[in-house]
Amino acid sequence: MITAQLPILAIAPAQVIRGDGILAAQDAASLDAIAAPIARLGQRPLIVGGSHSLALAAPLIGTLEQAGLAAQTAVYGRDCSESALARLHTAADGHRADVVIGMGGGKALDAAKLLAHQIHRPVVTVPTSGATCAAWTALSNVYSDQGAFLYDVALDTCPSLLILDYALIRTAPRRTLVAGIGDGLAKWYEAAISSGTSQQTLMVAAVQQARVLRDILLQKTPAALRHWGGPDWQEVVDATVLLAGVVGGIGGAQCRTVAAHAVHNGLTQLPASHGILHGEKVAYGILVQLRLEEMGGNAALARAARQQLLPFYRAVGLPQTLTDLGLGEITLSQLHQAAAFACREGSDIHHLPFTVAPEAVMAAMVSPLCPELRSKPAAPARSSSSVAPEVQP
Ligand SMILES: [Zn+2]
Repeated sequence: MITAQLPILAIAPAQVIRGDGILAAQDAASLDAIAAPIARLGQRPLIVGGSHSLALAAPLIGTLEQAGLAAQTAVYGRDCSESALARLHTAADGHRADVVIGMGGGKALDAAKLLAHQIHRPVVTVPTSGATCAAWTALSNVYSDQGAFLYDVALDTCPSLLILDYALIRTAPRRTLVAGIGDGLAKWYEAAISSGTSQQTLMVAAVQQARVLRDILLQKTPAALRHWGGPDWQEVVDATVLLAGVVGGIGGAQCRTVAAHAVHNGLTQLPASHGILHGEKVAYGILVQLRLEEMGGNAALARAARQQLLPFYRAVGLPQTLTDLGLGEITLSQLHQAAAFACREGSDIHHLPFTVAPEAVMAAMVSPLCPELRSKPAAPARSSSSVAPEVQP
């Protein structure tokens, strides 16, 4: 008799379909390439998304209807919250949905994945921005209706199908891809801390992929943003949407987030932060984490890493300070509230190799640029934290 829960690996979607304009293509082969894999999963898809993303769903709905599938849409609301999930359950029941299609940004995809998990149906993800790797991962974050982070849910599997249509991503605001770049960068700075000394094969692989991801983002982002929709842009989209998901998939639950995401979670407790994108808060959180590492005794490595990141942040428009985030006016007690949440029991911030108190987090949050660093990195450091090539802003 099995008495213990066996660890499950949920590494990747069963299938990824990529292409430019593939959802709107009208030739028979293209229609079949999209409809056939969905039809194998179910005949009554419920398409979950925000109202903006669902406005983009018309070609997909037409394709599914041509293939004889009965598709219906459901708006998830503003957040992947318990009340949004309850409404989606009603919509899924009413439609007798046998497959869920999530279409949108991270929160819409998280809601679709969690709904499918709860009703034991397969899920298809269609990201409409490069802001997160949510289209790939077996994880959903749950927020309050006010947008405050509550908890995450580990799902049994990655999505059955991921459809990456670059034409959709290209029309998303530039700010969303920049946020995804911030979120992707965090994989290295967090995985190196939480799992960098692991000898386990898959963990070693995950940490190395996180480093590769960081290097690709540092090298290709400037050109990607200059030539929106060009070859480098497409590689950066693959990095933020796919490779960032690979890192989470291979690393699994043990390759944890650390302070960058804990600071993000803390910031979501402040209503003033709710217009700020996930990856923007995480990018700022990376700098806070590096400041904490400097204060915790890892001064040279962390300082070199920050010195490398700051010119990159300036060049691509990632937030470096609370003021950049639009939070320059928060009170001391709000700052303490965010820091205390980041340090609550069980928070991933405690994966740092030293004890962290809210006061230290507050000090790091107000000093991401201190002491004033030169804008250009000095000679390349030999440390593993700073092996990426210098960025040309
Ligand atoms: Zn993230």
